[in-house]
Amino acid sequence: MEKVNLTCIECPLGCDIIVETDGGKVLSVLGNTCPRGDKYAREEVVCPKRVLTTTVKTDVDKMLPVKSKEPIEKGRLFDAVKTLSGITAKTPVKIGEKVAVFDGVEIIACMDVE
Ligand code: SF4
Repeated sequence: MEKVNLTCIECPLGCDIIVETDGGKVLSVLGNTCPRGDKYAREEVVCPKRVLTTTVKTDVDKMLPVKSKEPIEKGRLFDAVKTLSGITAKTPVKIGEKVAVFDGVEIIACMDVE
């Protein structure tokens, strides 16, 4: 059996969580003070994910800040950045508008660009 110590990043409280695993299977989650922490901890030890924030080029002389609408597998973030570095968003673009899709996750604009 293995123990993994984590700090929950789902809210500012930052609860200390201990996950007990055996052969990659989660046996227990301790220390979380709400269900979000339990979900985060189980996902973090099996398949960690993160929301991606980066910028993409536009067809005008401005960079567009973007983020993934949902978390992307941590191991895929580098490929996501590499893929997004090759796209050019067509203007005008509005905040929240989809500018690309990576691994089935929408990449959306974080600001308006005229
Ligand atoms: S376990 Fe719940 S209360 Fe604790 S940091 Fe995570 S989200 Fe916040």
